[in-house]
Amino acid sequence: MDFNQLIRPHILKLQPYASARDEYSGKEGTFLDANENPFSSVSGENFNRYPDPYQWEIKNKLSVLKGVSPESIFLGNGSDEPIDLLIKAVCEPLQNNIVIMPPTYGMYKVCADIQQVYVQQAPLSEAFDIDLDNVFDAINSATKMIWICSPNNPSGNLVNRDAIYQILKAFPEKLVIVDEAYIDFADSLSFITELQNFENLVVLQTFSKAWGMAGLRLGVAYCNPFIIKILNKIKYPYNLNILTQQKLVEALEKVAEKNEFVEKINQLRVELASELLKISSVVKIYPSDSNMLLVKFKEAKKLFDYLLSQKVIVRDRSNVVLCEDCLRLSIGTKEENEILLNAIKSSV
Ligand SMILES: *Cc1c(COP(=O)(O)O)cnc(C)c1O
Repeated sequence: MDFNQLIRPHILKLQPYASARDEYSGKEGTFLDANENPFSSVSGENFNRYPDPYQWEIKNKLSVLKGVSPESIFLGNGSDEPIDLLIKAVCEPLQNNIVIMPPTYGMYKVCADIQQVYVQQAPLSEAFDIDLDNVFDAINSATKMIWICSPNNPSGNLVNRDAIYQILKAFPEKLVIVDEAYIDFADSLSFITELQNFENLVVLQTFSKAWGMAGLRLGVAYCNPFIIKILNKIKYPYNLNILTQQKLVEALEKVAEKNEFVEKINQLRVELASELLKISSVVKIYPSDSNMLLVKFKEAKKLFDYLLSQKVIVRDRSNVVLCEDCLRLSIGTKEENEILLNAIKSSV
């Protein structure tokens, strides 16, 4: 892939902000370069120093866990940061477009809209799988990136792996982003293993779902080191704060705990689905490889309002393409799922 064609010319040329900590990467020394408070923090903790702008400690650990080089990793303030930065790096406003496959995660379009980048829709099939005809129809010479979400939000299912390969191969000069926010719940290999084979591939993951760290905000992009360097050039210098970095270093020692959560949640999803099937207002439960269930109800909007009145909050997707009369239910604890089931049963 010709990265010089992919990236916007002024971003290629951009002289990035050089932070104080860019000039010296050692940990030992007398640090009088960043105008920090030399004593401590008013909170009594030691937050007085700026964090590592490139988060090497986390990247080195993630590198071992994921089997990719630290130079192929970008860490962001949630996945939303790499989503935003990727579009910013690649797409000229009012000129280029991105292709998305609705119904899908809303942030791809929002980030494009904010940046005045056009959005082309290639709707998924009725079964929420990639429709290659729609994809090929939507792509044109001004297309710079193709966004795939697998497992998909809000439908919850993995999309066809073979279709992703076909897209990667058919468009070697366009960026193909596979958002794997829910991959931990799925019985499937991550596309991270394909990074060596496809220079045009970007894989997004997050610590917000299976890892249970949504409040800390940490999203990850894995891709070619050239693109990582570009993202580093245009990110805010200290995009991950010290607390998040410390907690993440600790979290990465707890893969077994993450896996236990995944097993528990997947089991609860199966149980919730089988209980929902017994309820007469449930029309259809879509197959899920994630911690959500998309469920078609007889009167979704009415049920949604009733659930709200009972302080049971689910996601109304009934206005979304292909999701008519559908609510998206996150898998809760056993108790929470029971509250949900009872509320649905009492709604008639
Ligand atoms: C939840 C979610 C994310 C994660 O977003 P964060 O900003 O990392 O919390 C990313 N993509 C999809 C499809 C999601 O559903």
